[in-house]
Amino acid sequence: FVANVSHELKTPLTSISGYAETLLAERPDERTERQFLETILGNARRMQRLVDDLLDLSRIESGRWRPEVAAIDIAETAAEVWTDLAGRAEEAGVAFSTETGEGAATLLADPEGVRLVLRNLLDNAVRYTPRGGRITLRSAVAEEGIALQVEDTGSGIPQEHLSRVFERFYRVDPSRSRAEGGTGLGLAIVRHTVEAHGGRVGIESQLGSGTRVTCWFPVPSPHDVTEM
Ligand code: ADP
Repeated sequence: FVANVSHELKTPLTSISGYAETLLAERPDERTERQFLETILGNARRMQRLVDDLLDLSRIESGRWRPEVAAIDIAETAAEVWTDLAGRAEEAGVAFSTETGEGAATLLADPEGVRLVLRNLLDNAVRYTPRGGRITLRSAVAEEGIALQVEDTGSGIPQEHLSRVFERFYRVDPSRSRAEGGTGLGLAIVRHTVEAHGGRVGIESQLGSGTRVTCWFPVPSPHDVTEM
C-alpha cells in the first residue's frame, strides 16, 4: 500500500518539479509559461485529491470510526451531493434523477458517511458515462434494511475486473482513470464506509451499456441511533 501511495504521489510530484525547474531555468514565451503553470496546477490538484481520499479512507478504515446514525432524507441528500457534480454532468450531457421506493425515502445511517458514499459513486458515474447518458439513484426496502443503488448508462466494466474494483488503487484502465481525475480509491472508500455500518456492497456491469453499484445498509439497533 505504501509503495502504491508513493508511486501515485511521485508521478505528479516529478511533473511539478520538472516544469517548475524549466520555468526557472528558461524564460519561455507567455503562452508556454501559461501551459507549464497549468500543468503544475493540474498535478498539484491531483495530489490534493489523492491526499483527501487517503485521509477519508484511513479515517474510516482505521476501525476507530463509528457511524453516528441519524435519519437521512435520501432525495435531499442526493440533491445536495449532486450540486457539486451538476456542472460537470451538464457539460457532459449526462442527466440525473432520484427514485425513492415505497418505505425507502429515509435511511438510518451516518449522514457524513452517506454523503461520502454518494459523492464517490456519483462522481464515478459522471466520469464513466458518455454524452446523452443517464444516472439514476434508487432506494428500496431490502431484506437487510435499505438498498441504495447508483446506476449509469456508461462504459461498463469487463466482467473479469468486477471482483477487484473495490480494492484500493485497482483500476480497469489506470491511465484513463488518472487522466480523468480518478484516484483509484473511490470504491474502496465506499466499501469501507458501508461495511462500517455492518452493510455490504455489490456491483453489476455490462461492458458498453452501464454499471450498477448497490450498497445495503442494515437497520441499525435502536441504541445506535443518535438523533431522529
Ligand atoms: P477511480 O478513481 O479510478 O474512479 P474507483 O475506486 O472509484 O477509482 O473505481 C475503480 C475502478 O473501477 C475505476 O478506475 C474504473 O475502472 C472502474 N469504475 C468505477 N466506477 C465505474 C463506473 N460507474 N463505470 C465504469 N467503470 C467504473
